[in-house]
Amino acid sequence: MKDNTENYHLEIIKCPECNAIQHGKVVHSTPFNSYVHFCVECNYIILESEWQQVKKVFVVTDADENVIGAYETEELAKIICKGNEEYCYEDHYVNKNEQM
Ligand SMILES: [Zn+2]
Repeated sequence: MKDNTENYHLEIIKCPECNAIQHGKVVHSTPFNSYVHFCVECNYIILESEWQQVKKVFVVTDADENVIGAYETEELAKIICKGNEEYCYEDHYVNKNEQM
């Protein structure tokens, strides 16, 4: 019997349409990996040719450490934090150890 378990890894990517930062699933298929992702914000279908990995994000959290959002630049994170004193942000490096 063939093992049907889907092998994949997640990458942090940016939607080319609305710039939303989100996880995209890269399916380890043969002979090439499959890059297809529906944007969680605008439902745009992101294909391999438009796949934009994000190396570093600024994650904004509230006082209870709930994630408010992830932003590509520190400037954006600052703008979000400006509106609410309870928010703070931290930079995170992503897509570091994802060799197949
Ligand atoms: Zn989008």
